Amino acid sequence: SATYNFCAGPAMLPQAVMEKAQSELLDWNGLGTSVMEISHRSKEFIALTEQAEIDLRELMSIPSNYHVLFMHGGGRGQFSAVVNNFLGNNGKALYLVDGSWSSAAVDEAKKLAGETQIDTLNIIEKNGATSRVSIPNLKELDQDYRYLHYCPNETVDGIEIFDELDSPWPIVADMSSNIMSREIDVSRYGLIYAGAQKNIGPSGLSIVIVKDELLQLPQLPQSSIMDYRLGVKHGSMYNTPPTFAWYLAAEVFRWLKASGGVAEVQKTNERKADTLYQFIDSCDFYENRVAFENRSMMNVTFYLKDEALNDEFIKLAKAAGFVALKGHRSVGGMRASIYNAMPLEGVEKLVEFMADFADKNKA
Ligand code: PLP
Repeated sequence: SATYNFCAGPAMLPQAVMEKAQSELLDWNGLGTSVMEISHRSKEFIALTEQAEIDLRELMSIPSNYHVLFMHGGGRGQFSAVVNNFLGNNGKALYLVDGSWSSAAVDEAKKLAGETQIDTLNIIEKNGATSRVSIPNLKELDQDYRYLHYCPNETVDGIEIFDELDSPWPIVADMSSNIMSREIDVSRYGLIYAGAQKNIGPSGLSIVIVKDELLQLPQLPQSSIMDYRLGVKHGSMYNTPPTFAWYLAAEVFRWLKASGGVAEVQKTNERKADTLYQFIDSCDFYENRVAFENRSMMNVTFYLKDEALNDEFIKLAKAAGFVALKGHRSVGGMRASIYNAMPLEGVEKLVEFMADFADKNKA
């Protein structure tokens, strides 16, 4: 029977993409060799990267005054790149904290820039066990920040911020776990970045979408491969890029376009998330601990009310083909990551399994 993979990342990729990749693994584009074994500067590979950028620009409606970079170093690589590219010796930045990853970004920023250049604002309000995002009026903070950093989807905590922020400073957004899951207005952002291994492709690649004018900001000394200006100048090929990951990302973009683009995928994502949250709410065996309006569409966290049953739940789920449902070790419980590649059917089958498990284990 089928395996449904709910891993938070590296996550499942669209089946059609994997089948195509398998069919052309040993002979890509009629070259008699795999895409992994050719020069990143060959005309065939350059054509692939150009098409990937065209497709990504179309999928996200990226305005022409934004650069698109394909970089190394995943999400965390960008935690440091943002600081080194934008902060200089005396700039300040504001970091909103709504969970594990935004908090990790703060740690890295403070390590590189020093405590005094980084201000933080906790935007989580707790009501009992329930977390809710509450953002103050940023315009009332009388500060001159180079940028505001935030993470609109906290992968570990299952918390998402759906409203676009109203910020007086350029917004830097870590969209590692929700890029292309729903439509956004790129022009409201200064920089968007994402590690690839959820909605884009395999790990090893990250995508940066950066507004041209931000590249004028003063830099700190940094490694050349993480320098946005050099990346732009060299077409993301200052050094050898992760070519296989780039190829798969290009295939995922193609698949997304063939699936109707982000607007269509968003509709399916909304149905998937609604199906799962409505079931969790309807059944007093499970609970979710995030305020309704901040429940992540990509990472559905939930708890068994009787946590003594956790191990049994994971064991039986795995035997039934539902893998990687264990919550992050820092928060416990369960997490079903339902990125773009997860079909609605996978969520419906998971709900059937969860209902059956609840029936059999009710006190
Ligand atoms: N930011 C977010 C929102 C993430 O979910 C992750 C990884 O799961 C990261 C950053 C770190 O990504 P990487 O492991 O590619 O450095």
